[in-house]
Amino acid sequence: MSAQPIYNFSAGPAVLPEAVLRTAQQEMLDYCGTGFPVMAMSHRSDMFMSILHHAEQDLRRLLNIPNNYKVLFLQGGATTQFNMTAMNLAHGFERIDAVVTGNWSRLAAEQMPLLTDVKVHIAAHGGELFDYKDLPDADNWEISNHSAFVHFAINETVNGLQYQNVPKLSDGMPPLVCDMSSELLSREFNVADYGLIYAGAQKNIGPAGVTVVIIREDLLDRCPKNIPSVFNYRTHIEKDGMYNTPPTYPIYISGLVFRWLQTQGGVKAIEAVNNIKAETLYDAIDGSGGFYINPITANARSKMNVVFKTDSGKLDKLFVQEADLRGLRLLKGYKTVGGMRASLYNAMPLAGVEALVEFMQDFQRRYG
Ligand SMILES: *Cc1c(COP(=O)(O)O)cnc(C)c1O
Repeated sequence: MSAQPIYNFSAGPAVLPEAVLRTAQQEMLDYCGTGFPVMAMSHRSDMFMSILHHAEQDLRRLLNIPNNYKVLFLQGGATTQFNMTAMNLAHGFERIDAVVTGNWSRLAAEQMPLLTDVKVHIAAHGGELFDYKDLPDADNWEISNHSAFVHFAINETVNGLQYQNVPKLSDGMPPLVCDMSSELLSREFNVADYGLIYAGAQKNIGPAGVTVVIIREDLLDRCPKNIPSVFNYRTHIEKDGMYNTPPTYPIYISGLVFRWLQTQGGVKAIEAVNNIKAETLYDAIDGSGGFYINPITANARSKMNVVFKTDSGKLDKLFVQEADLRGLRLLKGYKTVGGMRASLYNAMPLAGVEALVEFMQDFQRRYG
């Protein structure tokens, strides 16, 4: 009898490709004949510099990052970027325009004015507090051309909403700053539509501990001198990402993920699989005759984080417990949302979604 496969639906830290973990396992004690592990390697050694360089080059290739954009692998998580974006890019401006469509963009809007003189103007609201179900169209964002930037989260990990198209701002509008933590590398997009992009790795890229920042070069002129160096983008750029110790091991694993993604055919190919995965799960929810409910407006549904529930909190709890026994792990929804959440990042195979759908149907037959 073969062992039951385990599928990890965690929202983050989340599933990583098995091939990546096997390579890491093989290289754990002796990286490429050096006789020591990546974890114990000086970040200034040629060996690590090469790991970092290749990770950046591979990411640039995967996302078609234009030459006038810099790439950083920073510590501190996406949360630190809430403050760093404001401290670096809003100096001398009166306000930041923030779009609030869920848990993360709300937290960002709350944090951004701290440690700066800048005010945050809520440019659009996606719904009631803790009850986000729709995404305000970019045409209805209330934006001033005097604002430092416009911040939004393109995929709301907790609430399960995702902008399907990149909001387009008219000419002369401030740069878009985007939290892409739970979707970077899941679909194609045009980097040049943004001023700055950031993403904590532990959702769709690699392990916790590294945050990818992609920033348009001219915006570095805005970084003030009187903020702490470690929070200054310009310091990190000028020191080639070596101002202080970068998160070496998470960068190494992320680099392996980039290479794995290339073997899968790149972002375009994985996007096609991601579309099928999301469609399969939403079809199962919508086809359940109301037994399972996803409350999000159709064109705002996330392809990365699918939230659903039954009409009973008790049944939801049972669902999560029974699914766990079947190898369908970490399906519990976020505390403010409840119910279930299935995260369908790049490393989740279609077979995992099919196993979940099969279980959902079985569960409904027994309790529906
Ligand atoms: C997880 C998450 C964050 C917070 O990331 P940390 O690395 O824990 O700081 C921010 N934004 C989004 C969209 C996320 O999914």
